Formats: sequence, C-alpha cells, structure tokens
Amino acid sequence: MEILKIVIIGGGFSGAMTAYHLLRQEQVACAVTVVEPNELGLGLAYSTTCEEHLLNVCAGGMSALSDEPDHFFNYAKEKDPTVKITDFLPRKFFGKYVQELLSSAVSEKADFHSFDLVSQRAVDIEDAESRGLKVFLSNGQALEADIVVLALGNLAGGKPAWLDQLPMTNTHYIHNPWNKVAIDTIQKTDSVLLVGTGLTAVDKVIELTSQGHVGPILAASRHGLLPRRHLDIPDVHPQQVNLNGDRQWQSSALEALKYVRQLASQAAHWQAGVDSVRSITQKWWGNLALKEKRYFMRHLQTYWDVHRHRMAPSIANQIEATEKSGQLRILSGGIKRLCANDQAKIEVTIQERYLEPQTFLVDYVINCTGPQLKLKAIDSPLMANLHKRGLIAPDQTGAGINCEASGMICDQQGRLNPRLFAIGPQLKAVLLESVAVPELKGQAQELARLICNMQKTITA
Ligand SMILES: Cc1cc2nc3c(=O)[nH]c(=O)nc-3n(C[C@H](O)[C@H](O)[C@H](O)COP(=O)(O)OP(=O)(O)OC[C@H]3O[C@@H](n4cnc5c(N)ncnc54)[C@H](O)[C@@H]3O)c2cc1C
Repeated sequence: MEILKIVIIGGGFSGAMTAYHLLRQEQVACAVTVVEPNELGLGLAYSTTCEEHLLNVCAGGMSALSDEPDHFFNYAKEKDPTVKITDFLPRKFFGKYVQELLSSAVSEKADFHSFDLVSQRAVDIEDAESRGLKVFLSNGQALEADIVVLALGNLAGGKPAWLDQLPMTNTHYIHNPWNKVAIDTIQKTDSVLLVGTGLTAVDKVIELTSQGHVGPILAASRHGLLPRRHLDIPDVHPQQVNLNGDRQWQSSALEALKYVRQLASQAAHWQAGVDSVRSITQKWWGNLALKEKRYFMRHLQTYWDVHRHRMAPSIANQIEATEKSGQLRILSGGIKRLCANDQAKIEVTIQERYLEPQTFLVDYVINCTGPQLKLKAIDSPLMANLHKRGLIAPDQTGAGINCEASGMICDQQGRLNPRLFAIGPQLKAVLLESVAVPELKGQAQELARLICNMQKTITA
C-alpha cells in the first residue's frame, strides 16, 4: 500500500491535533513527521510554567475534540473530582492534556501509521511538484514529503518601528515576551514598560506580580484597552443566532458591530450577546467584501478582540487590584520616542490623545504587541524563503497568507497547491476566528480529512 508522507511544521495545538486526526483514521496509511524545536503539543500558549497563567476559555469550552465537547472537562475531572465545567484551569495543565491525547494516538495505530518527531526548525521548502516537497531543516538535513502543513502559530515580527533609536540587543529591551530567562533578569523593584495592553501584557503582569514584583508597571497601547472579563460563572454553551435573510449587517462591518451591540444590550449579560455570534462569525466574514474586511481590521478589530478574547475572572480581579494599588498604570497612547539613558535605563516618551507627551524612565521594556500577521514583517526564515520562492503570497487584507478556508495555500500566481496547507493564525484573513481552540479543533479534524482525500490526486 502507498504510504502518504506528511510533514507538519510546528507542533503546537494545531500541528499536534492535525497529527492526532491523521493517526486516528484508518483509510490512508500515513507517515507523519512533526518538525518542532520545542516540546511537542505545547506551542506558545501552553508551554508556560507559570501556574497563574490560566486558560481564557472555561473547562467546558476547551475540548480538543469537536465530537466530544466535554472531553477536556472529563479529563480534568478524572485528575481532580472538584473541577467544575465553568473553571478556568492552568494553561500548563491543558498542554499535558494535548500531549497525552497525541501520544495515545501514536501508540494506538502504530501497526498502520508511523510517527516521528524531529526537534529542529524548518527553514525552507522546495516544491518539485509531481515528485513532492522537500523540507529543509536548520541542521542542514532535508525531509521528503507528499504533503506539508504549516502549523506555525502566532509568529513574531522583527524590529518594531517604535524601537528605531534602540538596538534590539539592548539588554533592557525584551523583544520576546515568552523568553523566561530574559523576564527572570527583571529585579522585583524594577520599573517595567509593557508595550501593548492585550492578553500578552496581562500575562506579563500576572507573571511578574506572582513572582513578588513590587516595582511600577506601565502598559501602553494606542487605545489603552484591556481585555474584558468573563462572567464569574461563564455560559458554557451560549445560545447562537442564525445567519438568515439578507439583513444589512451581513454585508457591512459597521452594521455588524451595531448588531452585536444590540444583541449584547438585549442579553442578560453582554458576554452572552458577543458569544451568540461565534458559530456564524467565520461564515459572515467569508461573505464580507474586501473593503469591509479592511475597514474591520483597521477600525473595529481592537474593540472586537477585547470583548471576544476575555480574561478569566480571577485574572481580571488581579489586574484590577494591581491597577487600584497604583502599581499598574494603563496609558492610551503611542510611543513617540524610546532611547537608552546614561543610567542604564530606558527613556520613553508616550503621547496620549489630547495630552502633552509624558516621559518616563524605566528599567525594562517588554514588547507585548502580539503576533505579526504582515508577511513581510514576520521574523521567520521559513516564511521569508517560501515568499522568495513564490510558494506563498500575502492575503489581500495584508493579514496572513493567501489560502482557502480549508487551509490549501495559493502561490504567487494564484494557483492552489494541493501539497501545501496552513492551519491556525495564518488563516485569520480567510476565517477571522482562527486562533483559539474552539475553532482550531475543527480545523485540524477537517484538514486531516482533506489530506487523506488528497491522496488520490497527488499520487495519480
Ligand atoms: C499566551 C497565549 C494564551 C492563549 N490562551 C488560550 C486559551 O486559553 N484558550 C484558547 O482557546 N486559546 C488560547 N490561545 C490561542 C492559541 O494560540 C491557540 O489555543 C493554540 O495554542 C494555537 O496553536 P498553534 O499550534 O496554531 O500555534 P502555537 O501554539 O503557537 O504553535 C506553533 C508551533 O510552531 C512552531 N514553529 C514555528 N515556526 C517553526 C518552524 N520554522 N519550524 C518548526 N516549528 C516551528 C513553534 O515552535 C510552536 O511550537 C492563547 C495564545 C497565547 C499566545
């Protein structure tokens, strides 16, 4: 029997769950290789060692399997019978769950499929069309594949524009907020500036304060908006609205926002109104004109994100307490100037709207601006090489790569490549919602199914 060789680049949730579904099916014999330089199954979100870093979705919403909505909750309850479906559990614990799921699939069908983990970074891919693909690794080796899946997750950007007067190598600037060694060099009394006020900044406030940090923390972003909070007892399965008729809100980003506002004001809690459109968001987005998508991304995305991707209640309480005590100060303004100071500090000038610019001296600056979706600004040799080879192109919105909702990638000539797929945040421009487990679990299952169906096409 012909064996389908699949290389999955990236072994976070998306890569691990795509491998899981490929290894669980019985139609096509697969040789699955996951290329991942870090621990398998964790990715950025679940590799944290900080117990206080909680999931931002309650246990009842975090099943990794679409067909078994309570799968994660049951797993958690087995480990600790006091766990409730509405609890927000540690992210570290969720990582263990994904790892156990994948290893069960690897051993279950070992006589039919094979599985390999390659602890390297992929740096390039060559497409020899009918002869398949070659994935080049950072150690100089290459892997042959019939199909390659890019499961690269949230990719960071290179040097930000606001850092023009400071070298990236300045030891008081932390470009990668997930670099624990760098974060641990911050002394408890140091003053810290977080650039960004989203979930990454929230993570850093929690991490620092849980380690006994007492120094002042400033957090600045253009809008100065923090993610909103979940209800103390979240609605696990919120009622969903239907997409029917050709109502005006379906073709206009602004009208859709008004519609969600109306749903939020009519619901018992605004959270229920926002959550009630979750099942139709991807379809609504798919039907939206390019101009409307661009408008949404430019003007509405920030507001949508802070309401949609919320903080666990206990995290929100901690953030509020830190703000109330005066340790945390949120500023809504852009960075005008940031440079090194003679006393080994960083001098930063922030321009808040309608106010005079303010200058602060801080010991550390942490970049919490989140993922970079503009292809040219992403700091990834693999993505740069794929772009150079013409194998990937930016989406028309400028966010992520040009591909179909299924994940099949379009090259720079606009041709779909049946051997090259993406999953996860790179599909944001096509799906809008493509970053969290509730969406990614279905994507991984569908992608595995599609890959198996491709076997006849690509081996013909
Ligand atoms: C801090 C944080 C907290 C979050 N919390 C939640 C939550 O509570 N609930 C929720 O539903 N979602 C949460 N999310 C969203 C999260 O992104 C998804 O849940 C999910 O983890 C994304 O998985 P992924 O595999 O697509 O990306 P990632 O988890 O980022 O994994 C991508 C993997 O690709 C690897 N990689 C990248 N480039 C290469 C390369 N060239 N070669 C080889 N490997 C490569 C990376 O090492 C990484 O392990 C959170 C995200 C973050 C960043």
